[in-house]
Amino acid sequence: MQHTGQLPADAFKLMGVSGSHWFGDTSKNLQRITGVGFRNRDELKAHMVFLEEAAARDHRKLGREMDLFHMQEEAPGQIFWHPNGWTIYTALQDYIRRKQRAGGYVEVNTPQVVDRKLWIESGHWEKYQDHMFIVEVDEEHAREKAVNALKPMNCPCHVQIFNQGLKSYRDLPLRMAEFGACNRYEPSGALHGIMRVRGFTQDDGHIFCREDQIESETALYIDFLSDIYHDLGFADFKVKFSDRPEKRAGSDEIWDKAEAALLSATKAAGIDPELNPGEGAFYGPKLEFVLTDAIGRDWQCGTHQVDFVLPERLDANYTAEDGAKHRPVMLHRATLGSFEPRRQVAILACAPTSCGRSNHLGRG
Ligand code: ZN
Repeated sequence: MQHTGQLPADAFKLMGVSGSHWFGDTSKNLQRITGVGFRNRDELKAHMVFLEEAAARDHRKLGREMDLFHMQEEAPGQIFWHPNGWTIYTALQDYIRRKQRAGGYVEVNTPQVVDRKLWIESGHWEKYQDHMFIVEVDEEHAREKAVNALKPMNCPCHVQIFNQGLKSYRDLPLRMAEFGACNRYEPSGALHGIMRVRGFTQDDGHIFCREDQIESETALYIDFLSDIYHDLGFADFKVKFSDRPEKRAGSDEIWDKAEAALLSATKAAGIDPELNPGEGAFYGPKLEFVLTDAIGRDWQCGTHQVDFVLPERLDANYTAEDGAKHRPVMLHRATLGSFEPRRQVAILACAPTSCGRSNHLGRG
């Protein structure tokens, strides 16, 4: 439009009025008016309905009304779960645990505070340091301060468990899962209710496998995840395939292999993914699973990533049939993403169907 006069008279609406200052100068008061305009009355109406629905489902409002959780400034981006909210949380966790057991996973648990040495080896220190909570400890007798970090992710710790004892090709695929409590430093401006937080628990898992198992493990995982999404009331989901980013580790040859294996497994599962060029992780290509809620908003929840790099950096290996040492491939996968931020307890409030197979959650 060249000017607001071109808007149909019944297709715009005043949304808010507030005070403001001219370039922050408190002596010059301004009035700020916000509004929305559409091509016609129907579009405006649809937008107003959407806003109402979204407000009714706002997880911060529901959290308060249903006495699920609260947050306070002494612990920014972290959740104080109340009994009601914790009941939902643990019901979800129990359900995922049952599914994982049935899916052939072993469950582990790894430390929260880990020396920076491991993060340097894994490459997180270099790429991710700005998003880590650094903890300096004055060890008694130590000449230098020990520098630790709260774990921002579980992957390097899972490799430490894999590396204990000798592994043979018979041990693969090894599916390792953890309800991994992670902490990430998010700038306070990015925090939004429980959608983005600084402390959260992932339904994390890593599958250590041979290269020729990437395809079958990916197909198996897509099945596993579809089943869970169905149970939670999400009949459909979108899949995005993200390939090599500009900044990456590993050779082109490795990337060719990883991308081809992931794509063919996805297609074999009957899914035609949307391409998301250049958006892969620095260590490998990934699939993102996107849920659409009752009012049409998309939320990325599950991920599945192929990784040839971390096993190399952390020297994971297994003995193959020929007696020689080989590197396993690592598949990073999360189904709900996490329980708080991304975003299950928040998103469950917005599932398109709240009936149907929800009884799979058990008592809840
Ligand atoms: Zn991982």
